[in-house]
Amino acid sequence: MIGRLILGDQLNPHHSWFSQVEPDKVCYYLVEAFEELTYAPHHRQKMLGFLGAMRAFADHLRAQGHSVRYRSVKDRIQDLPAFLQSEKNAGHVTAWEAQEPDEYRLDQALRSIVDRMVSSEHFLTERPDVATHFTGKKTYLMESFYRMMRKKTGILMEGDQPVGGQWNYDADNRQAWPKGHQAPPIPFFSHDLRDLDRELDEVGLPRWGDSRAAAFPWPLNREEALQVLDAFVADRLVHFGAYQDALVDHAPFLYHSLLSFALNTKMLQPLEVIQAAEDAYRRGQAPLNSVEGFIRQILGWREFVRGIYWAEMPEYGHLNFFQHEKPLPSWFYTGQTSMRCVAQAIQQSLSNAYAHHIQRLMVTGNLALLLGSHPNEIDQWYLGIYIDALEWVEQPNTRGMSQYADGGKLGSKPYVSSGAYLHKMSNHCASCRYKVREKTGPDACPFNALYWDFHDRHRDKLEKNPRIGMVYRTWDRMGTAQQTALLERAHWIHENVEDL
Ligand code: FAD
Ligand code: SF4
Repeated sequence: MIGRLILGDQLNPHHSWFSQVEPDKVCYYLVEAFEELTYAPHHRQKMLGFLGAMRAFADHLRAQGHSVRYRSVKDRIQDLPAFLQSEKNAGHVTAWEAQEPDEYRLDQALRSIVDRMVSSEHFLTERPDVATHFTGKKTYLMESFYRMMRKKTGILMEGDQPVGGQWNYDADNRQAWPKGHQAPPIPFFSHDLRDLDRELDEVGLPRWGDSRAAAFPWPLNREEALQVLDAFVADRLVHFGAYQDALVDHAPFLYHSLLSFALNTKMLQPLEVIQAAEDAYRRGQAPLNSVEGFIRQILGWREFVRGIYWAEMPEYGHLNFFQHEKPLPSWFYTGQTSMRCVAQAIQQSLSNAYAHHIQRLMVTGNLALLLGSHPNEIDQWYLGIYIDALEWVEQPNTRGMSQYADGGKLGSKPYVSSGAYLHKMSNHCASCRYKVREKTGPDACPFNALYWDFHDRHRDKLEKNPRIGMVYRTWDRMGTAQQTALLERAHWIHENVEDL
């Protein structure tokens, strides 16, 4: 019997594996191995989402007539490769086949035991494509990769020119949220996953965040994932671009698609999501700035970060350009801070296992970097808390884009800001205990002093960066008294970070 391993993020029912039903020759294995459930402190919804979707996928395969062996957490299997070996030793499996894992760690671990590795048939690029595109270059440039992808796929192209004459419509995007504006409601599901949640309690798997097991909101199969896609294209794609960077009090989802979990588990394919958005543009249902902005995230960023991951691993996971060593404040795990923007981002993450990109990048990521937190701690936090978090996409986004721990391989400068940017893009400051316009003193927005302190501390590493020179010119013009006051305020913040 050939054993075919299906990982929790390989739930694509249209994979060519399933085109033939051969229950006497092929057995599909899905395994809830403890090591995969404990390599980071996972959010309850992340664990329920992955295991719930794996169980639903196994049911789907059985209904199609495939032979399936499912090992649940109750079987207490620790280590996946050891389990595969034991199945072979016991004669249950004569040869193992697997789809290429997306994580370096698993890829390495499975190579010695799997006899035949096949493509997961999901991505639009091969693992080495980004490295090949940038051969001989010191840094990776998303825009260059993205244009190559547009030309290669013909997506949003007219001949060899971009539709509309421009590659990028960001100038029309990045708008602040109009006062009183409401985004359409999200079509959440209501799965009863209480039995699964209890099983996880019984076997003692550590989790955090709200489980929402009684009415679990995320899609658990392809049909539901398609409903999320359809609802996004019909209701929210239209304003995706305009409000892509907005931050709004008590509004966690805005016009975002919420498709990352369905994409990363491969319930949906990137090409079909891109084509659905492009079709909406061609039918006149969504404007080009939104459609191009959305497609860029998937055709550009998603493929790009994956290519960087494969080009740079395993070293990438250890990079710490700024030599930051501090622990994350404990309120990263509770959301109990008086900083309104931060409390909202963390509390929403605890409640939904989701935060949109700007919350991840410009609120929590920005603050963690300004505070000098160790990238390992930050990686663990992001890898645990979000339902879509898988190392191949989380790590380049966190260590690279958000923390600049790679010294600029992925981004041309650190994504840090003072309170002014957050004030411009959000309405959080109006209900914050801190005052965004104050730079020093006990009520001043902590982002303000931390921003200058960060640049002062890392002057040797950043001053020569042409995109940051202006910051140092402003700092130097400030005068000693103001500089000292800012650094003293930052010092107080570093010393009393738990009380913010
Ligand atoms: P939308 O805003 O609707 O975007 C559409 C899709 O584009 C997403 O579903 C996603 O598949 C893709 N996309 C958008 N931005 C990126 C990006 N920067 N990199 C890769 N794909 C992107 N995304 C993950 O899928 N998993 C992660 O673990 C993850 N960790 C992140 C950590 C940090 C610090 C940051 C700054 C970003 C991270 N992202 C991650 C990227 C992005 O924030 C999420 O993909 C997005 O917020 C998911 O919500 P959405 O589906 O509503 O996305
Ligand atoms: Fe965030 Fe500062 Fe605004 Fe408070 S004042 S919400 S901490 S940016």
